[in-house]
Amino acid sequence: MARVLQSTAELGDLMAATFRDLDAAARDPGRRVAWCTSVGPAELLRAMGFEVFFPENHAAMLGASRRATEFIPRANAAGYSPDICSYLTSDIGAWLSGYCALSRPCPEITTVPRPDVLVYHTNQCRDVVDWFAYYARMFDVPLLGIASPRGVERVTRDLVDAVASQLRALVQPLEAIAGAPLDPDMLGATIAASRETSDLWRQVLGTAARRPSPLTFFDGCIHMGPAVVLRGDPRASAYYRRLLSELQAVVDQGGAAVPGERVRLYWEGMPIWGRLRDLSGRFADLGASVVASTYCSSWVFDALDPDAPFESMARASLELFITRTDPVKERILAAEAHRFGIQGFVFHEARTCPNNTNSRYGMPGRLEAATGLPALVLAGDLNDLRMFSDDTARLAIEAFIEQLHPAGAR
Ligand code: SF4
Repeated sequence: MARVLQSTAELGDLMAATFRDLDAAARDPGRRVAWCTSVGPAELLRAMGFEVFFPENHAAMLGASRRATEFIPRANAAGYSPDICSYLTSDIGAWLSGYCALSRPCPEITTVPRPDVLVYHTNQCRDVVDWFAYYARMFDVPLLGIASPRGVERVTRDLVDAVASQLRALVQPLEAIAGAPLDPDMLGATIAASRETSDLWRQVLGTAARRPSPLTFFDGCIHMGPAVVLRGDPRASAYYRRLLSELQAVVDQGGAAVPGERVRLYWEGMPIWGRLRDLSGRFADLGASVVASTYCSSWVFDALDPDAPFESMARASLELFITRTDPVKERILAAEAHRFGIQGFVFHEARTCPNNTNSRYGMPGRLEAATGLPALVLAGDLNDLRMFSDDTARLAIEAFIEQLHPAGAR
């Protein structure tokens, strides 16, 4: 079995404190809550005094606690297809069922924090628009957003300007809701804090380049919480400094996330939240360490620059892996494979998220031709466990590891 990092307990406390802050803000008439997409303009919102809630985080919590699948039919009955994003359907289904995933870590919280505004960014997909529009109607609050180009080959000046101008256009309506003007110094400080978190998170993920790796993709899915929900909040950087120091101590002592590591793999695509622990154990039992992923790296924003706030936020959002063309993605994956010394790719073909699935148009084959590294394609889903077969996945993983490293060849 993979071992558990000691920082996990502190992480739980930090996430619970974050949810309590949100709950308190939603109850306080003098404070404002904004809902934001996971790679949306959180820094701008935080700099304007909003507490920021991320529905995707809530949906991932539904998935990780294996409650998501039971709520999806409620959203289907309300007109949201079973084929669209299961974050959306499980989240709306939970809302319709009166269930809030925040009540697991914080039993006193019974509902998601009431928004004063919802702000989306379509850099990841269009589903977020419909998802947020649903709640804008439910709460009768404004819906704001940024329409971003997708399939980006080169991040050009024109594209950066187009997104930056949309970011600037958010300021006036947000000021009206916040009841105060944007303080440019506060925006700069928030972006600086977010960049620091991003740099630390990059270093945390980078420790997995060591052999054996002290960290797996499955650990990353848990420890990425602050990088997602506390962007621009100094508590995130403080947490990652401590996590980094724990990981460095593991490396110094020759420790490993997967004892007896004999195979190193890369995970491409969304996590299967309801099987995170099972898959972590399954790979570990086979001596396979899943050392890196595009998913966890999605919250590394190298472009953020407090001296060019709007342009750098725009550039960071356009440089995201999910927004790029297949040739760009393949170059990134090949470079990551080299950096982390992997022997194979695991592509998760998520049924309800074509936006973050890259196995449907021949990429695994092209990548193998370019790098010589084979790929396993696992059919499943981020939150809808009806799309995932434990037995099929188990057999496929065992056969793939055996192909990469026959059991007798230790
Ligand atoms: S990227 Fe995929 S999982 Fe995320 S909100 Fe869009 S469709 Fe859902």
